[in-house]
Amino acid sequence: MPAGISRKSSDDSLEKVAVEVRGCPLCKLARTRKNAVPGEGQLSAKIMFIGEAPGRSEDEKGRPFVGAAGKILDELLKKAGIERSQVFITNVVKCRPPCNRLPDEDEAASCRPYLERQIALIRPKVICVLGRTAYSSLLGGSSITANRGKIVEKSGQKYFLTIHPAAAIYKKSLLSVLETDLKKLAAEIRGLEQQGTSSMEDYL
Ligand code: URA
Repeated sequence: MPAGISRKSSDDSLEKVAVEVRGCPLCKLARTRKNAVPGEGQLSAKIMFIGEAPGRSEDEKGRPFVGAAGKILDELLKKAGIERSQVFITNVVKCRPPCNRLPDEDEAASCRPYLERQIALIRPKVICVLGRTAYSSLLGGSSITANRGKIVEKSGQKYFLTIHPAAAIYKKSLLSVLETDLKKLAAEIRGLEQQGTSSMEDYL
């Protein structure tokens, strides 16, 4: 079990986490959000995508990556042969920071146990880290552009690093960078499956 990622408690569930997130009072973002965004996807997901924080569309709908950045993510997932319905998508911070500012450290810290419970429940083969905020929060990294496309392992958990889809809104040339990375991620997952890295635990 990765350090800092709690062991799954036997009566925990993704729905339980989602209910708690929707009613969460723990940080100041609770006062400005319309809807908290717990994340969505499969308990059996092999890949978990972790972004920064909900934006305006996500705050309106209570769902992750449903605005402009989400459109880019959806399109490139499709190109990589990854089904959005088969993965789990969430963020470091579950409520929208006003004016889409970066999440404050205390906000990320308050949200952290929710993320850790989601990871412990899903036990993804790979966590795909989307952008600098997630990279810094999950792995203490700073330059996502220097490290994108890499797989790193921390405490037994594999992380795949790539840029945030929103970066490609501002710089179109980054679309092909993200496309390349997501195709690499898809190949990595196929490779892990072929290596027979499954264990009895995968079936329990
Ligand atoms: N940006 C993020 O980091 N997460 C979302 O859910 C939407 C945009």
